Amino acid sequence: MADDRAKKREAERRRYWADPERFRAKRRRNRNPKRESEAARRWQTEHPGYAAEWVRRDRLVNPEKYAERERLRGPRNSEQDRAYQRTYREAHKAEIAAKTAAWRLAHPERNLELKEQASRRRRARLTGVPHEEFTRDEIFERDGWVCGICGEPVDPTLPWPHPRFKSLDHIIPIAKGGANTRANVQCAHTLCNARKSAR
Ligand SMILES: [Zn+2]
Repeated sequence: MADDRAKKREAERRRYWADPERFRAKRRRNRNPKRESEAARRWQTEHPGYAAEWVRRDRLVNPEKYAERERLRGPRNSEQDRAYQRTYREAHKAEIAAKTAAWRLAHPERNLELKEQASRRRRARLTGVPHEEFTRDEIFERDGWVCGICGEPVDPTLPWPHPRFKSLDHIIPIAKGGANTRANVQCAHTLCNARKSAR
C-alpha cells in the first residue's frame, strides 16, 4: 500500500518534470539565479500591480501568516526603522537622486506642485504666519479658473512658461504677514501675479 503511494508519487514527479519547458526553466534558474531574478524583476515592472494584487488576495486567504509577520516585524516607523532608512539613504544616495530626477522629468506638473508647496511651507515657517496644506488645483477649482486679479478666465491647458499660465496668488503676500491658508490665496495668471508682486 505504502509502496503503491510511493510509486504513484514517483510517477507524478516524472510527469511533472517531463514537460521540457518546465525542466529547462528549472535548469536555467539553477544555473543563473541572478539573471533569473532580474528576469523576474523585469516581468514585475511589465505587469504593474500584479504582485500587489496577488499579495492582497493571499492576505485574505492566509490572514494568520501575515499577522505573524507583523508581530515579528515590530512597530512601524520605530527608531530602528528610521535608523535603517538613514543608512539606506546614505548608501544609495546617487541611485536615489537619479530616480528622483527621472520621476521629476516624468511628472513635471506634480513636481512643480510639490516644489511650490514646499516653498509655501518654508516661507510661512520663516515669517511665522499661519500655514495650511492645500494644492494649487484645489484652489483653481474653487475659484472656477478665473483670475482673482484681472477677472479673466485662466486656461488650464496653457503650458508653462506662458504669461497666462495658472498661478497661485497670496492676496496679502506672505512677506507682508499674509497667511498661507485657503482664505488668503486665489487663482491668478502668472503675469498678473508677477505684476502685482512688483508693485
Ligand atoms: Zn489675470
